[in-house]
Amino acid sequence: MRSVKSNLFMLSIIWQACPGRVALNIAMCLLQRITQLIYSIFLLSEIMLAIESGDYMRVVIFILALVAFSLVTSPLIAWYESKYRNETNVVIHKRIIEKIYAQAVRCDLSCYEDPKFYDKYTMANEEILERGINILDNVSNLFSMFLQMCICIVIIIRSEPVILPIILVCAAASMFIDTKRSKLAFEGNKKSAPYRRRMDYVKRTVFLQDYAKELRMGNIFLPLLDVFDDALRSAIKVSRGYYGKASVLRVARELFMSVGFHLAVQGMIIYQFIVNNAYPLSGVVTIINAAQQLQSRVYNFGNHVGEFIDNGLYADNIREFLSYEPRIVNDDNAAAPDRDNAGISLKNVSYKYEGASEETLKNISIDIPKGSKIALVGHNGAGKSTLIKLILRLYDVSDGEITFGRTNIKRLRLEEYRRCFTTVFQDFRIYAASLGENILLRPVVSSEDKARVLSAIESSGLSEKAGSLEGGINAQLTKEFDDDGAFMSGGEMQKTAVARVFADDAPVAILDEPSSALDPISEYEMFENMNNACGDKTVIFISHRLSSAVMADKIYMLENGRVVEEGTHRELMDKNGKYAEMFRIQAEKYMEVDE
Ligand code: ADP
Repeated sequence: MRSVKSNLFMLSIIWQACPGRVALNIAMCLLQRITQLIYSIFLLSEIMLAIESGDYMRVVIFILALVAFSLVTSPLIAWYESKYRNETNVVIHKRIIEKIYAQAVRCDLSCYEDPKFYDKYTMANEEILERGINILDNVSNLFSMFLQMCICIVIIIRSEPVILPIILVCAAASMFIDTKRSKLAFEGNKKSAPYRRRMDYVKRTVFLQDYAKELRMGNIFLPLLDVFDDALRSAIKVSRGYYGKASVLRVARELFMSVGFHLAVQGMIIYQFIVNNAYPLSGVVTIINAAQQLQSRVYNFGNHVGEFIDNGLYADNIREFLSYEPRIVNDDNAAAPDRDNAGISLKNVSYKYEGASEETLKNISIDIPKGSKIALVGHNGAGKSTLIKLILRLYDVSDGEITFGRTNIKRLRLEEYRRCFTTVFQDFRIYAASLGENILLRPVVSSEDKARVLSAIESSGLSEKAGSLEGGINAQLTKEFDDDGAFMSGGEMQKTAVARVFADDAPVAILDEPSSALDPISEYEMFENMNNACGDKTVIFISHRLSSAVMADKIYMLENGRVVEEGTHRELMDKNGKYAEMFRIQAEKYMEVDE
């Protein structure tokens, strides 16, 4: 029942995407199946009938009609199969993928930390290219096969009804044996999966660029080759065991078919013809062909039902994925954020990750006035990034409240609220697009856009690199699609990401460890530039290199999810507490390097 529901769910998406194409798919499938029946049952019996009755004109007309029919249908079927069906596949694929991607962006960030949800997302993405059209083909086939079977059953009931149960039992028995064989194949597949995974791992190491340098520098590939050999041998051993059993089943099926179908059904028809003279020779041909067709249709119908169930499992997965309702949503009465009043306040904020045993953030109160430059510092794991995710409303607080321009952020329109921020995360991405597009994160269309990009390049300290690129801001980054794509060092990529902050007119900038790949001098310059260029923007930055925190209006030091110290650099140094200690240790390291 669940399979039917899930298949219907997918069919409704497909129908909405292209109702005309769905109708045509069913019609073409029906046309092919009816043509097949005409050729396999009626052509030979018409010829026999003509021989028996001497009415050769009748068979000539029949064959001419068939030729005319083929002249029309063959090109139609060929055009449909080679062109139209592929286009239909693209239309369906596009609609399903749009739905999946729209939902993926809508889902809460916490979904990505839920392995069950992530599995669903991964599975929804896998096989997406063909599954939609497969579902449509499967249903079209089931429908037209059902009609084919009805025609065969009518022919058999009218001439030799006793053979009907024999055919049905034979087909059911073959289906049963084949199901056993499929199960065996599935088990064999499952047993050899760990070995395949090992082989895939070795293949990946040879294939991916990430491993290319190290593979060339040592002999690590030799033990990996041993892993591949062992895995291959084990996989072959597993499949040998299962192939043996599968071939026994295959022999059993063939025996069953020859004894059951050929002996019982064909024997009965021939007996009726010879002994009882029950029907003419043309009748024998018609009944034997109809029986043969019915037997193979019932068998294929079973296979298609199996496919229907299989599609249902896949569709079920997509249905569940698409029906997930995010918890972080727009309030119906949500207001627009006040961009001119971009002060942020956290009042007694606590946060506990789902499934975690204790709170990651505990009772945090921070005031970030509009236009201020705030640094969040602390050791790894202190809770700095979590705090940023709460401010961006990627997660909702477990306790307390966050306000933006004095309104609780839960009462602001989510998309507009997030557009008040530009962010550079630690794991920012550089895209296979031009330098300008990478900075604006959209196409560069006007002279104003160009000026904005150039100014951002200047502020982020990227002018020298941009000047060296052929094409300047139009130069393509990465070699993903372009052999001449520009190569950028880690520091240059980071500067490109920081340039996004300068190019965006959002009132708040958030930089999560934006300087980790920069050397200390570049880091200092970047922060100085940022201070100048950000003007009246509110800036929150995270760094565990404290040299950059010196310039902040206020520093918050986090430890184990609590604010343990706060103040300006001077105040905290005078206090001589944890911040001062951390600052001194880091400064000493630089001095040692210097010496
Ligand atoms: P920081 O940015 O200061 O290095 P984080 O905010 O990233 O610290 O992490 C704070 C704590 O929360 C760490 O103990 C980390 O393991 C935990 N944590 C971070 N993200 C998750 C998550 N998605 N699920 C569960 N725990 C998490």
